[in-house]
Amino acid sequence: MNKILNFIDGVYINPQNNEWIDKINPATGLKNAEIASSDIQDVELAFMASQKAFEEWSSFNPNLRFRILNRISELIEEKKSGLALAETYDTGKPLKLSEEFEIPRAASNFRFFATAALQFASESHSNYNSINYTLRQPIGSVGCISPWNLPLYLFTWKIAPALASGNCVIAKPSELSPTTASMLGQICNEAGLPNGVLNIIQGLGSRAGAAIVEHPGIKAISFTGGTKTGKIISSVAGPMFKKLSLELGGKNPCLIFEDCDLEKTVSEVSRLAFSNQGQICLCGSRILIQESIYEKFKKLLIEKVSKLRIGNPLDPNTQFGSLISEDHKKKVLSYIQLAVEEGGTILHGGQEIKLEGQCANGSFILPTIIEGLHAQCRTNQEEIFGPVITLQKFSGDDEAIELANNSDYGLASTIWTKNINKAHQISSKLNTGIVWINCWLVRDLRTPFGGMNASGVGREGGWEAMRFFTEAKNVCISY
Ligand code: NDP
Repeated sequence: MNKILNFIDGVYINPQNNEWIDKINPATGLKNAEIASSDIQDVELAFMASQKAFEEWSSFNPNLRFRILNRISELIEEKKSGLALAETYDTGKPLKLSEEFEIPRAASNFRFFATAALQFASESHSNYNSINYTLRQPIGSVGCISPWNLPLYLFTWKIAPALASGNCVIAKPSELSPTTASMLGQICNEAGLPNGVLNIIQGLGSRAGAAIVEHPGIKAISFTGGTKTGKIISSVAGPMFKKLSLELGGKNPCLIFEDCDLEKTVSEVSRLAFSNQGQICLCGSRILIQESIYEKFKKLLIEKVSKLRIGNPLDPNTQFGSLISEDHKKKVLSYIQLAVEEGGTILHGGQEIKLEGQCANGSFILPTIIEGLHAQCRTNQEEIFGPVITLQKFSGDDEAIELANNSDYGLASTIWTKNINKAHQISSKLNTGIVWINCWLVRDLRTPFGGMNASGVGREGGWEAMRFFTEAKNVCISY
């Protein structure tokens, strides 16, 4: 049986307690590996290794840092097929998505922040009697904790800027998707990353993750995951005065106006709702449609969604795969049941689906569309994080904005209209950290990425990430 070990100080080692967790392939229901169930002892080892490596790594010439990080990016590209396959075995997502979207993005993350290492600069302020300059120095040992939905993509989105700015990292992937993170250790060794600069701890969030957050020597935590976990982490890290970046859940609205490009919007809404089986924090889940086109849009959307090809994630034709786990499938089904109890009508899907052959015991649910629910009900307020969307009607711009902002979350929204002037005006009134107009998931890695309110604190991406992973120190010289 394949064993997924910790990667500490440049070598793969068993967890100190020799405890293991079963890893299940959710598309088949079969166990495919055992994962180290690490605890505080492993985190301590990783911390010691990171401290030992910090002095050398933080004083590396940026050119050298660039060369190593860029080489990691190239190696991810070279090993794309194996990484994509591992991602799909761990998560049940279509192989095509892993190959064409997620692994290439992990490579881009390293390439982008490799160049940031060369270009990162700081401010200076001159005055009539003094000049100030700001040093941006690496923090030391930092913790990066990421979720299962886009495993290597989100793992590297944190690790790359942390390393580019001169820190050493103790990182933990989700125990549901550990494999590509583990493979990254070998890639870092091949690229010449010094031992101890990146340490990867496998295991449960409540044990291994908590030990990273609680460690007094780990001075910053970059976390992506659920809002509930974000609250727990802030309650521990806040009183310890750690730097904290929190990328949390969402309940993202799509505002569809009567003057949109109907065909394109239907197609993009199907994509933004059901990509990765709706398990992307940026997926739209509250679909708000102007009443004059409501019935027409609904009919076209159901037609489009009913054509999604559900199947074995390894089949190159599959567009819609398995959910991450049997537990998550049960959670999503319980929300569909709740929607019915709250008065919703299921227009499409609404149940699990049993495939034949290899995937007979997989965790598959049909893409689900529901209408007739009140904006305030739990189905419209709580994050489901699965292939479930609700349709709601609005009459004019004000009502669309009110409905869109009727949420504790504030991650991402989309606006669909040909009236660009209106789209700009509405964008400025939406309480989300990201607004896409007539598109979705179009990314420029220089832009600030993150959410408001229950969707998080701080921003990732570009200089925001480089600033997060450094301490600003102002030096003042009097003339
Ligand atoms: P979780 O919050 O359950 O877990 C995220 C990570 O935190 C995992 O590695 C988990 O480990 C770990 N963890 C759990 N408990 C603790 C703890 N007490 N201390 C430290 N670490 C802990 O989220 P999911 O993995 O279920 O991911 C889905 C969530 O992530 C959704 O809410 C989604 O919206 C959000 N998300 C947000 C994004 C954003 O950019 N805003 C992007 C992607 C997802 P383990 O899994 O091993 O328990």
